[in-house]
Amino acid sequence: MELGEKKLFISVAGGGLILLAVLAGVAWYLIGPRLSGFQEDLPVIVGVAALLGFAAIALGLGMIALSALTGRRVLFSQRITATVVRILFPLVFMLSRIIGMDKDRIKRSFIAVNNALVGAGRDTLRKGNLLLLLPHCLQSTDCPNRITGGLIENCQGCGKCVISSLLVLAREHGLALTVATGGTLARRVIGEVRPVAIIAVACETDLTSGIQDSYPLPVYGVLNERPHGPCRDTTVNLDRVEEAIAFFASAGR
Ligand code: SF4
Repeated sequence: MELGEKKLFISVAGGGLILLAVLAGVAWYLIGPRLSGFQEDLPVIVGVAALLGFAAIALGLGMIALSALTGRRVLFSQRITATVVRILFPLVFMLSRIIGMDKDRIKRSFIAVNNALVGAGRDTLRKGNLLLLLPHCLQSTDCPNRITGGLIENCQGCGKCVISSLLVLAREHGLALTVATGGTLARRVIGEVRPVAIIAVACETDLTSGIQDSYPLPVYGVLNERPHGPCRDTTVNLDRVEEAIAFFASAGR
C-alpha cells in the first residue's frame, strides 16, 4: 500500500480542519459582541467549547494518522475512528471538490487509510467468521443463475466470471461468502453471519459508504476493476483478495 496514497486523505483532512478552525475563529470574533449582549461570559464559554471540540477532533485525526502511517495501534478504538471520520469525511470531500481533486482519488486514499487502520488493530480481532462480501456486478451479465443473498451455491463454476474463483478461495479459507445487490441486503447478511471482520470488494463509492456504515465492524476494502465501465461485468484482482485473506490469517484469527 502506497504511503502517499494514505497521506492524501490525512493531509486534506488536516487542511480542512485548520480551515474550519480559522472560519470558526472569524465567526466567533464577529459574533462575540452580540453573544456578550445575552450574557457577559457567553463568548468565552462558546470559544472554550469550540476550542475543546477542535482539539478533540485534531487529537482523533492525529491518532488515525499515526496508526495508519506507522501500522501501529496508537490509542484508538474503531468508535473514535468512526466519530472522527464521520465529522471529517464530508469536510474532506467538500474541500477536495473545491480544489478540483478527482473524487475517486480521495476515496481510494480513504480506503487505504481504513485498511491500514484495520491492519493496525487486527491483533485485537476476536475469533469468528470472516465474511467475503461481493457486489452483484462481478457476476457475468450472461449468467442465468441467481446467486445473490444466500444463493451462491447456484454458481455452476463455469469460470465465465470471477465469482467461481472467489467461491473456491472462500471454501479453501473457510470464509462466509455473499453476493449482495445493495446495502440493505448486505446489512441483512451481516446481521445473519455476524462476522468479526469483512473483506469487501466494490468500487470506490460503495466501499467508502460501506466502510462508514459498518463502523465499528472492521471492513478491509478491495477495489474492483471495471473493464466494461461501472456496475457491469466487473472483476477483481484475485491476488488482492488473497492478500486480504492472508492479512487476517496472519493475525491468528
Ligand atoms: S462463474 Fe458462476 S456466476 Fe459466473 S457466470 Fe459462471 S455460473 Fe455464473
